[in-house]
Amino acid sequence: MRLTEHDGKALLRRHGIAVPEGLLLQGPPSATAKGVLKAQVLEGGRGKRGLVRLVAPGEAPAAAAAIRGILGDSTAPLLLEQAVAIKREIYLALRVDGTAQGIQLLVHPEGGVDIETTPGLLRCDLDPEAPGQLEAIYALLAPAFAPALAAPLARLALRLARVMVAEDLDLLEINPLAVLENGRLMACDAKLVRDDSAAFRHDAPALSAALEDAALTPLERRARDQGFQLVELPGGTVAMVTAGAGLGMLMLDLLADVGCPAACFMDNVPGGPMDSTPERLDAAYDIARRPEVKGVMFYTTLASRPLKARVDALAEAIRRSPPPKPLFVGIAAGHAALRGYSLDQARADLAAVGVAALHDNPHDLVRAVAAGLAGNHGQGIR
Ligand code: GDP
Ligand code: MN
Repeated sequence: MRLTEHDGKALLRRHGIAVPEGLLLQGPPSATAKGVLKAQVLEGGRGKRGLVRLVAPGEAPAAAAAIRGILGDSTAPLLLEQAVAIKREIYLALRVDGTAQGIQLLVHPEGGVDIETTPGLLRCDLDPEAPGQLEAIYALLAPAFAPALAAPLARLALRLARVMVAEDLDLLEINPLAVLENGRLMACDAKLVRDDSAAFRHDAPALSAALEDAALTPLERRARDQGFQLVELPGGTVAMVTAGAGLGMLMLDLLADVGCPAACFMDNVPGGPMDSTPERLDAAYDIARRPEVKGVMFYTTLASRPLKARVDALAEAIRRSPPPKPLFVGIAAGHAALRGYSLDQARADLAAVGVAALHDNPHDLVRAVAAGLAGNHGQGIR
């Protein structure tokens, strides 16, 4: 879950990290309000879109209306913050490096809105509980910062890494981290992303949860309520039904390679139901009814869950509701999944509901999709 700036800063404040005083506005600001007005949206780059404005007394109501006008939402929540006199802007981020299975620290001596295009990013791996970390961070920072700044910056980075662990964050990005006139450091912006798998350990901050919900499409919301994750992908031509995210990513790439991009991506969620084949298929059908979507592709792998149950669920779903566009099916099953029920039996049972071919190799399946959709735009089951 991506936390709004307001929720992210509240979290940082709880951990003793300095952030500006702020107030969340749901209605219009008072005429005498002054400071910085900031849209609370989940996308970044607000500064460049006119969604962050410095306001003097008297200016806040008009600025709030202008920001809400850009958002096209007259009741959008805004953060009104004390304006901070920034002497210098620094970029500081911590992220989970999935490959290294650890935390990576990123620091740019010049933070601000043009960070992506300015060279000079410093980075190192960081294990908050390992000995010698403070010294290692200091050594990274020393060439780019004066000692009087490098030392508190290194201490802050280490503290934030501990916050990251305690709060199950995938990303903790502060841009700008402000150096104030008195030399102290203050987080003027905060982008925090919490690992969804750890959501049960934390209370979801209300504003972030509401914005996340509002950002879902109706189909995505329905999928969430049914216990799986669906992401609609604009421009896709194949409604793709998959199970886990790794397999989904693989099929996404393979489909793109043959010129049939996926129109959706599906993933399991922790604590989801054992089988949501009918619900997934229903969602894929809804997407496939759109004129630009030409077919449905179903692919799952089964390690130890019985193949028969999955095939029965799929056949029953197809019998109940025939696909609106050509359906291509693939299942890869391991030894345990095949106990007492072979792939040939699965082929026969699916043929009985009109599925002409059952592929067990993902490449074969994707080739069948490409061939089937290239020559034929009719309806029915392939
Ligand atoms: P973003 O563009 O979505 O990342 O929004 P930010 O919160 O980072 O705001 C954009 C820019 O506004 C920052 O890079 C700062 O330069 C500036 N800014 C934000 N808050 C303050 C503040 O309290 N004082 C001053 N002087 N500038 C600010
Ligand atoms: Mn920022």
